Amino acid sequence: EMGANWLLQFSSEIEQRYLRRLSIITELKEVLQSEQDELSLVYQPKISLETRQVNGLEALIRWNSQRLGFIPPDEFIEIAEQAGFIEQVTDWVLNRVVADILILREHQIHIKPAVNLSTQDIQNRPLLERLIALLDANELSADNITLEITESDLVADAKIAIANLQFLQDKGFSIAIDDFGTGYSSLAYLKNLPVSAIKIDKAFVLNLSTDTEDQQIVHTVLSLSNIFDLEVVAEGVEDANAMEILAEWGCDTAQGYYISRPLPLGGLIDWLASSDY
Ligand code: C2E
Ligand code: CA
Ligand code: CA
Ligand code: CA
Repeated sequence: EMGANWLLQFSSEIEQRYLRRLSIITELKEVLQSEQDELSLVYQPKISLETRQVNGLEALIRWNSQRLGFIPPDEFIEIAEQAGFIEQVTDWVLNRVVADILILREHQIHIKPAVNLSTQDIQNRPLLERLIALLDANELSADNITLEITESDLVADAKIAIANLQFLQDKGFSIAIDDFGTGYSSLAYLKNLPVSAIKIDKAFVLNLSTDTEDQQIVHTVLSLSNIFDLEVVAEGVEDANAMEILAEWGCDTAQGYYISRPLPLGGLIDWLASSDY
């Protein structure tokens, strides 16, 4: 019967998803504990739309699994969050970023990388203390790192999250709100938070040169952010048109494939030496 067939297929899809999740959890935990180099970081440059010079980097994790192939971060980060070991991933990222900052310094490069924190990280004071200790141990101050957090991170347990944000800002970290526009918070709300920048999500930027709705949204965000004195970063800048529109409307910083794709550290160092930005 058709109905029974459908049900069988449906349950086997659920089973496959479940098995993939399970192998991702198992493999990722193992990789985090071993010295294998399946995990890496790539860095995407951000440029000032005023000076057209590089003014920051975003560190993005990559996982090339020997057994499972390339797994996109969107997929395994969410699984690590749900399975309760995201802090191990974040610890790995933070340790690598600090090591990379030291390598960049050897090349006289002093550009600040941003790290993505997950919802649970911002509630996790011991993790934040480990970050501070890690910087201390390497004689780096907190103003060498920007922390990117999403709006939804503030909703889960707003009191603890905001207290931790304040703690981080007092320590000297810059904090940026990621994926701005995809959640519920307004700029008026952010005004009262210890936040220095917002990142307009690429969903509103990718088609900026043609989509009039996106244009209205981005324009509104840029006008309001001026009032609230927030730095605005646009991610997903893929063409010259979008970049010029953003510059004209007073957006501070741009990030996207048009400027550069995320690059491994060595590639980044070469790119910085050869690019006009
Ligand atoms: P995100 O934080 O919003 O990062 C921006 C994403 O947009 C990155 O995808 C980046 O490669 C991509 N991107 C940059 N410029 C362009 C562009 O011009 N066009 C298009 N189409 N895409 C662009 P990626 O690296 O696949 O990361 C996806 C998400 O995974 C990130 O979104 C972030 O939420 C998460 N993620 C990545 N690395 C980490 C990490 O180290 N820790 C945590 N917690 N999350 C991470
Ligand atoms: Ca980000
Ligand atoms: Ca994000
Ligand atoms: Ca985003």
